[in-house]
Amino acid sequence: MKIHEYQGKELFRKYGVPTPRGILALNPDEAEAAAKELATPVVVVKAQIHAGGRGKGGGVKLAKSPAEAKTLTQQMLGMMLKTIQTGPEGQKVNKVYIEEGLDIGQELYLGVTLDRATSRITFMASTEGGVEIEEVAEKHPEKILRAVVDPAVGFADFQGRELAFGLGLTGPTVSKFVQFCAALYKMYVETDAALVEINPLVIRKSGGVVALDAKVTFDENALYRHKELLEYRDVAEEEPRETQAKEHDLAYIALDGNIGCMVNGAGLAMATMDTIKLVGGAPANFLDVGGGASKEKVTAAFKLILADPQVKAVLVNIFGGIMKCDVIAEGIIAAAKEVQLKIPLVVRLEGTNVEQGKELLRNSGLAITPADNLRQAAEKAVAAIK
Ligand code: ADP
Ligand code: MG
Repeated sequence: MKIHEYQGKELFRKYGVPTPRGILALNPDEAEAAAKELATPVVVVKAQIHAGGRGKGGGVKLAKSPAEAKTLTQQMLGMMLKTIQTGPEGQKVNKVYIEEGLDIGQELYLGVTLDRATSRITFMASTEGGVEIEEVAEKHPEKILRAVVDPAVGFADFQGRELAFGLGLTGPTVSKFVQFCAALYKMYVETDAALVEINPLVIRKSGGVVALDAKVTFDENALYRHKELLEYRDVAEEEPRETQAKEHDLAYIALDGNIGCMVNGAGLAMATMDTIKLVGGAPANFLDVGGGASKEKVTAAFKLILADPQVKAVLVNIFGGIMKCDVIAEGIIAAAKEVQLKIPLVVRLEGTNVEQGKELLRNSGLAITPADNLRQAAEKAVAAIK
């Protein structure tokens, strides 16, 4: 789960990770009042969307007076902000964060993530802050320093010092940086974060170390034990179909092909997408309806697939184990009738009660193309589109 910059910084402050002072604003008047309250010569108006690269896209602007902060907020709210991390249509700005403008001595990069290769939390730091870190990783991999944390020991001060020296920090800034990293590590572990990126991490002219940006993502599988973090969820920022899927407890990920897929089991869903590709098609989504789906769940899943205007055919691939094929068939028929299905539907059923399921489909009066195995189903779906 992604959160906004202002929320990430709120968490940072809770853990003692230094950030600039800032106030959230939902309208131009609030922005003006916030700028007055911050009472600094310059404030920064920052669009809050779940994507980075806002600066280059026009979503981070300096204001020299509260009146200017108000005007800039007026322009920013409601705009479709396009950055390299949003889709081509951009993302709508619903909130801005008004932040004190800081003097910047140096812009660094600091990231924390779980490295799956070593199964350890890893810090990444670079002097190339403020720019795309992916670009640095590609062109100058030697400029990215790493510290791998031993989970039994936790983040050790010497690791912080090694990073600091590698970044060329000197004097009291070194210990400030070490403290910064230690606080960040504590937050990362205690909130079950997946990725924390601070780009830029700023060294002030006075030597202070401050997080000027905050990109925080949490491990969704651990959210059940962080009810307080769920309040940070902003569904306006999420793909609406994925939000809808979550409400029905369906694992759905939108893709850019045109064959909608309804499958049970993540492994079978992956295999189905692979097979579609193999026979020259492109899946429109990943969808795992789970092991024990009810008729209602299948109906919801079906509607979800069809809500995607790109979908030109649907492929249902179900192995009825815990789930029974006749229940699936009932769900498919109910959904197809409800949404007045007009596009080709290819169904491959196998497993428990398969004959009853097929019988139901045959007698449904719907134009369903049956398939006996996965490859055939994929071929039929691809052919149906052509
Ligand atoms: P994004 O990564 O989405 O572009 P950032 O928060 O990193 O957004 O802001 C982009 C740039 O704007 C920063 O690299 C920094 O130079 C400047 N900036 C952001 N916040 C402040 C601030 N509070 N004071 C001064 N400059 C800022
Ligand atoms: Mg940034």
